Amino acid sequence: MAFTLPALPYAFNALEPHIDARTMEIHHGKHHNAYVTNLNNAVAGKPEENLSIEEICKNISKYPVAVRNNGGGHYNHSLFWTSMAANAGGQPTGALADAISAAFGTFDEFKTKFNAAAAGRFGSGWAWLIKDASGKLAITSTPNQDNPLMDVAEVKGTPLLGLDVWEHAYYLNYQNRRPDYCAAFWNVVNWSEVAKRFK
Ligand code: MN
Repeated sequence: MAFTLPALPYAFNALEPHIDARTMEIHHGKHHNAYVTNLNNAVAGKPEENLSIEEICKNISKYPVAVRNNGGGHYNHSLFWTSMAANAGGQPTGALADAISAAFGTFDEFKTKFNAAAAGRFGSGWAWLIKDASGKLAITSTPNQDNPLMDVAEVKGTPLLGLDVWEHAYYLNYQNRRPDYCAAFWNVVNWSEVAKRFK
């Protein structure tokens, strides 16, 4: 198989109480796993089965919708799991903290704008912190399993941090309270990993 489900880098319950173990287990083992299976089926026997998921995303308009949905799902969730960690949260430091201040004013203003992008995405999708082609940070949001790497994205850039706002990401614990889930996310953000992507 061309693509494989990456292991979660922590236990299912590692992000509690902010994200519950049952949600993590289903989200990783069922949802992400299905994206990987369906992506492998969609690329089987085609040249794209030898490409990286990043390369596929960058030229996504060339591929069938099954590759867009499931390839996006695979890329997005792989980034999401590693964007979080146990005993994480807090604030970024160093060059990333400076870039956030330069782009958004303060860290709190950044969080407010990111939360607004996450809460304002109608239906299913993602909120993102990206680095654009000029090296500047921006906040954006994509529908479904699209992402800012895709050539079809309204706002393009390299994803540094992504938040899944599909109901499957929070419904067991938060039901309709997406803003509460978004607020809790800041307690589990793995800023050292985000800083690595920024470099
Ligand atoms: Mn998801």
